[in-house]
Amino acid sequence: MPDHPASLHGFTLRSTQTIAESDSIALLYEHTLTGAPVAFLLNDDDNKGFVIAFRTPPSDSTGVPHILEHSVLNGSARYPVKEPFTEIIRSSLNTFLNAFTYSDRTAYPVASRNDQDFRNLVRIYLDAVFAPLLAETSFMQEGWHHKLNDQDQLEVTGIVYNEMIGAYSSPENQLADAIYSQLYPGSIYAHSSGGKPENIPDLSFDEFLAFHEQFYSPTNSLAVFAGNVDVAESLAEMAEYLVRFAPGTLAPVPAIEAQAAPVVCTLPYSIGADEDAAHKTFVQRAWCTGELTPEQGLAWTILGQILLGSAGAPLRRALIESGLGQETMHWGLDGDVSKPNFSVGLKGTEPDKREAIELKIDETLAALVDDGIDTCQVTAALNTIEFQLREANYGGFPPNLHDGLRVIGAWIYDAPLFSMLEYEAPLQEIRDGVTAGRYFETLIEQSLINNQHRVTIVLAPDTKLAQQQQEALTARLAAQRAALSDDGVARVRERVAELERVQQTPDTPEALASIPALPRSAVKPQADVLPFAMIADDGPRLSFSERNTRGIAYVKLRFDAAAVPQPLFPYLGIFAKLLRETGTAKRDYSELLAELGIHTGGLSGASGASCKLADTTAVNPGLTFVGKALTHSVPQMFSLLREILTSARLDDLERVREIVRSVIANTRSAVVPSGNRYASMRLNAVHTTVGGYSEALSGLEQFFFLQQLEKRLATEPDAVLGELQQVRELVLRSSQCHVHVTGGAADLAAVQTELAALAADLPGEALPATEYSWTAAQAGEGWILPANVQYVGQGLNLYSLGLNYHAAFSVLSHLIDQEYLWNAVRVKGNAYGCSSQFDAITGQLNCLSYRDPHLEQTLEAYAGLPDFVQAVDLSASEYDRVLIGTMGGLDSPRTPDQEGSLAFRRHLIGVTQELVQQRRDEVLSSTVADFARFQDAIAEFANRGTICVFGSQEALERNKTRFSRIAPVL
Ligand SMILES: [Zn+2]
Repeated sequence: MPDHPASLHGFTLRSTQTIAESDSIALLYEHTLTGAPVAFLLNDDDNKGFVIAFRTPPSDSTGVPHILEHSVLNGSARYPVKEPFTEIIRSSLNTFLNAFTYSDRTAYPVASRNDQDFRNLVRIYLDAVFAPLLAETSFMQEGWHHKLNDQDQLEVTGIVYNEMIGAYSSPENQLADAIYSQLYPGSIYAHSSGGKPENIPDLSFDEFLAFHEQFYSPTNSLAVFAGNVDVAESLAEMAEYLVRFAPGTLAPVPAIEAQAAPVVCTLPYSIGADEDAAHKTFVQRAWCTGELTPEQGLAWTILGQILLGSAGAPLRRALIESGLGQETMHWGLDGDVSKPNFSVGLKGTEPDKREAIELKIDETLAALVDDGIDTCQVTAALNTIEFQLREANYGGFPPNLHDGLRVIGAWIYDAPLFSMLEYEAPLQEIRDGVTAGRYFETLIEQSLINNQHRVTIVLAPDTKLAQQQQEALTARLAAQRAALSDDGVARVRERVAELERVQQTPDTPEALASIPALPRSAVKPQADVLPFAMIADDGPRLSFSERNTRGIAYVKLRFDAAAVPQPLFPYLGIFAKLLRETGTAKRDYSELLAELGIHTGGLSGASGASCKLADTTAVNPGLTFVGKALTHSVPQMFSLLREILTSARLDDLERVREIVRSVIANTRSAVVPSGNRYASMRLNAVHTTVGGYSEALSGLEQFFFLQQLEKRLATEPDAVLGELQQVRELVLRSSQCHVHVTGGAADLAAVQTELAALAADLPGEALPATEYSWTAAQAGEGWILPANVQYVGQGLNLYSLGLNYHAAFSVLSHLIDQEYLWNAVRVKGNAYGCSSQFDAITGQLNCLSYRDPHLEQTLEAYAGLPDFVQAVDLSASEYDRVLIGTMGGLDSPRTPDQEGSLAFRRHLIGVTQELVQQRRDEVLSSTVADFARFQDAIAEFANRGTICVFGSQEALERNKTRFSRIAPVL
């Protein structure tokens, strides 16, 4: 271990230790003057991470921690521009940049692989949290403010205000909130740190400033640097900020009182006025676990995996098979509380089934304690969690930030700082406990069955609630309006005028110059080379991406599905799940899923459709299984795969019905909070053939298909099961199969050995593709959601207009997002988000807003795009900034398996390494003059783009002339 200075820049070294699990050295320094801790996780990962967090316990539900999290990013002493955060997103090579409000803390994480960029980002964040400008106009824009509309009525708006209206439109968010308020009454967790829309307008600007003053002190903070960072330089940077502060106080760990008796609480949530309330109740049981040591935390995670981790896990299975609801809410452990909770329940149920559901939970747990848990389930859960810990694969999220946030998670509850990273010893203790016997049975008995500190929440649909809430808001605002004196009215108008003046005044060049810029040379000219080799061209095709995956084989098994006739095609949307979760001729599904847990790191399946570059009619639909396993377990993984492919119980009517019901329930929950995603799929389907395929597989069409399917399973089950069998025969054929391996030579060899057996088990010859014609999605659709926000989409296919793609479009797209839409839709319109999405493969351009209070105003913003593009006037250095921001997004680091996946995808759609390099060369040699290439296409987009909006009935009806149809989703 190299020596680190015992004291430096006003810091004293408090501890040094190695973290074997992540090959890191952990240092803890303390700032002598303020007591501020600064932690380091030193390792050789060049994707460096930095997080600074503050304990921010809320004392009400005005959302002050959340509004502050937004507002500190709106200009600081050293960076006096309106939004340094967006300026830096525009112009940095960051690999992650965001800010998070938790229920008890606020964290500001950033990561970058470029040294200079990393230092810039750290400084911008330190300046933001320790020296923010916190102008009143920022508070109004980000938090809330009153304004007077055309009818002289008072309205409330603000970014967080609208964000939270959107967030609370989801019943599952309301349920999570209710668990906190009922399980932790009287504690800070009973409040909403994000802010409840009805409480946000209670927050005053002075209270907002006071909250910052109280909690954003070095003494109440922890900073973590992780990766191959320079300790001395980092401490010097910290010292510069910390010396300005006197010692403050560290907020105490939030206290939670133990509850002596279980609580039952029934609450309403709003659904559409005409919506059917049947099967829309949620019932959730949550237990408070008490404080957890690292071993206990890990034990609860594994217990969650045992009870709820797969469709075959005993508690989840018992609840589904009870028929008391449509899908489980298997949330398991929530560790972001000083005394965590563990929860499970059902959605798609009725209020009067609450007692039966509770009884089913109690009986199932009691039986597990009495009879003992099946050892296969325990082994599977232990292996699954161990695989996840060792793989440390967060799907591209920087591992250093992941670990940094874990350190914050320990600090927030006064636990030993690095204890959450050291899993080997606790894992061994748990394994020893399991060997000794009844480890998890005892945990269930003591901490679930005999635990009286628990709540059951019944969240029931209410068709009148939305109207009542709207009337209450209208009445409150009318009363406030009536109480306003003439001076008061003038004051509201002045404040709004001042906000608009600030929003419309561009930052001065001097202020903008404060934002550090990287030279164009910071971007490497060579595109990453993704290895891809075809190994075998027939039978099952086989290809390989050689990567160091540390002993794990990542395998994709893709079946061409173009032989499935159109009426049967939507089955593919759910087909992989049916194959995986119905069990096989040899095993029932619990046993099968446990075997997968024992021998693999996961095996899942999905369908999708891709097209060839710039030809959206050359579509290749497919069904893909994705699996991973240690090299020596590849034979077992393939053996299980073959078993699934050849003998999945697609004839088990009851099980098929359960799966269909659960997918319907999950889709219903997904549509309301992500209308933008569904709108985007609809727009793609209007304009491209490939979009029609995707919509049928995973869009609204799939949702409608499943609802029909559920009915047909009751009226003509044999016909449905027969069709499933047909789909199986049309898809699962060896000549339609392509296997892709990412890993080392040993992984490839292990897979190769298995292919002959796979081919022997499946029918051979490939079947001809069939013709499809998709007509479901139309131009100008309005879809009603039970929500008070909109998702406003507009789309057009630019290749169909004859646009010749040039890679400078990605720079323009970045500028449109970060400059034009950000200002027009977020800053001025107070929508939570808005972006343009251009698919360079299909040529489809969609603009989509997110949690948007407006509809027509956002469409007007889209209409203004041509003028914006026409008027873009960037100096060479300004263009470079945007270019670098664009490249930062394109160059985000990928895990080895993500590289393999991307290489496979490029092969399927016909994108070569040469083309990737050519496009990169194009971007890197582009100038602002290249934007002229796109002006006509953008003008066409504004004129001829079709719209699709998901939103409130009121907003859609008000704009009904814009729509060809308006219909409810649910
Ligand atoms: Zn937010």
